[in-house]
This record gives sequence, structure tokens and C-alpha cells, in this order.
Amino acid sequence: MTDLDADALIAIRRDLHQIPELALHETRTHDYLMAKIQSWQSSWMTIKGVPEVPTAIMVRLAGTDPRRTIGYRTDIDALPVTEATGLPFASTIPGQMHACGHDVHMAVALGILQHFAANQPRDNMLFFFQPAEEEDYGGYRVYQAGAFTGEWQPDEFFLRFMTIRRYRLANWRRVRGHSLRVRPRFT
Ligand SMILES: [Zn+2]
Repeated sequence: MTDLDADALIAIRRDLHQIPELALHETRTHDYLMAKIQSWQSSWMTIKGVPEVPTAIMVRLAGTDPRRTIGYRTDIDALPVTEATGLPFASTIPGQMHACGHDVHMAVALGILQHFAANQPRDNMLFFFQPAEEEDYGGYRVYQAGAFTGEWQPDEFFLRFMTIRRYRLANWRRVRGHSLRVRPRFT
């Protein structure tokens, strides 16, 4: 399996941009993500749901010679904003829009996940698709549900910043956040 190319990643981002859902109601987004992830299933991949937060998705990739578990997190919810861009891939849901870039965050996360689903990493990896970043404390809810325990406890977490100044870490106090440099080729 080859890596997703730029066109494939842009298509994913545009698909997701059209179905923006508000915090804790990200059901179509969840199903879209899950379909992609399951299509990349590998022997070193384990997918886990979180019953207390049903739209959350966690994916663990077991490494070949792990020294640590590296977490990568993306947020998945949208904002209660009416899109007026006129773009061909604009929101199809009135009053809701991916105006905070979570559609881009998700596409980046899927691209990284797909690469390591096809190429087993040396270290363990944990991908966390987090509902409710904008409000309702999705990250903290999943943490409180005990989802980050045992094999599912990352040693460190990476996430993609749109801009560091705008990014809110309010619901992510418990885990160290790092930015990851990704070439901004998404449109
Ligand atoms: Zn946001």
C-alpha cells in the first residue's frame, strides 16, 4: 500500500469539510473516519471505541521494537457558524462549519496513520480522534473514562496547530502538547 498522495488527502479534507458536526454529535464524522481506518487494517493495528464518548476513536499501532508509545491527536468537531464561502465543497449542514481547521487536522492524522498502517513503526503509536474540542471537554472526558491506561497510555502526545496563538489547550491540560511541522499544502 502506497501513501496517500496530496490529491487523496485534499479529497478527504473536502469530504470532511462538508459534514461539520458539533461537539459530541460527530456521528457522521466518526463513521467516515472509521471507514477509512478500517480499510487500512493491519496485523499491528487495534481500534478501540470509548463507550462514554461514542464518537471518539482510538487506534493503536504496535511497534516492531518499541521504546515508547507516541501519541498523535486530532480534534474532530466543528463550530456553530454558517459557511458563506461559496466553495464547491462548502458545508452541507446549515449553521455548522469546520471554521477552526479540524477538517485539516483530521486529514493530516489520517495521512500519518495510513503511512504507519502500511509501514509498521518501530515505536508503538496511539492515534486519538478527539470529539468536542470546541466545547464540552472531549479530551478530558476520554481521559476520565480511563481510555489512556495500560497499553493505551502514550509517553508523549503530538498534535497539529493551526496557529499556536489560536489553539486552545484548555481541555488538554493533562497531556503535554507538542506541535508537529507539516507542510501546509491543504486547500
Ligand atoms: Zn478548534
